[in-house]
Amino acid sequence: MTETTIATTETADTAALTARHPAIAVTRLEVSPLKANCYLLRCRATGDVLVVDAGADGDRILAAIAALTGGRRELVRLIVNTHGHVDHVAAVADLRAALGPVPVAMHPEGIELVEGNGPDAARFLDHPYVPVLPDRLVREGDEIAWGACSLRVIETPGHSPDGISLYGHGLVLTGDTLFRRSVGAWKYFKGHKADLFASLHRLVALPPETAVYPGHGEPTTVGEERAENKYVQVQGPAS
Ligand SMILES: [Zn+2]
Ligand SMILES: [Zn+2]
Repeated sequence: MTETTIATTETADTAALTARHPAIAVTRLEVSPLKANCYLLRCRATGDVLVVDAGADGDRILAAIAALTGGRRELVRLIVNTHGHVDHVAAVADLRAALGPVPVAMHPEGIELVEGNGPDAARFLDHPYVPVLPDRLVREGDEIAWGACSLRVIETPGHSPDGISLYGHGLVLTGDTLFRRSVGAWKYFKGHKADLFASLHRLVALPPETAVYPGHGEPTTVGEERAENKYVQVQGPAS
């Protein structure tokens, strides 16, 4: 879904960010007309790949996977949806058709969203939408492991009830909760402003050196957002 406007006047230093998480190589692909970020996370020790938010443009994601793995598609171990909005899940079916039955993980509250994406897919995407229900349900504190790498699930509802962030090895993927200098919208189905701000404050309480890879826009760091993101300074209302 479309998001709050994202400032793009400054660009994060990619090399400096990469140095913050040496165990994981991050590939970011901007997909769909809504410019959602699909991430390929390669565990450097083993070459295994985790896909986060296969939102659209399955052919491009598959080409990037082929390049990253040298054509060894069996290295793709898991697909995670940070939440069930169409721009974060619409290529999951394409990936599974090409790669085989790679398991899909998401928060249980997202099932309703995945099942209900048809009208949004018709509005925003130029190809048919095939919903893929998760094989694995994840909640607060669960570990997402692939190869020798592992990220911990942080529940970050508010933009949607099923929002999760993934934290570990010096990075955090924040879905549509925290963007560079912005936050996700709370106006959508089952969005909740107070929850979004509570989630935002959990994320900016992570160590400041943590690299942030958001669901839309450029990467950043926790420390930068704690200092520069105006939404961190304001407290949402109690409702
Ligand atoms: Zn989005
Ligand atoms: Zn969203």
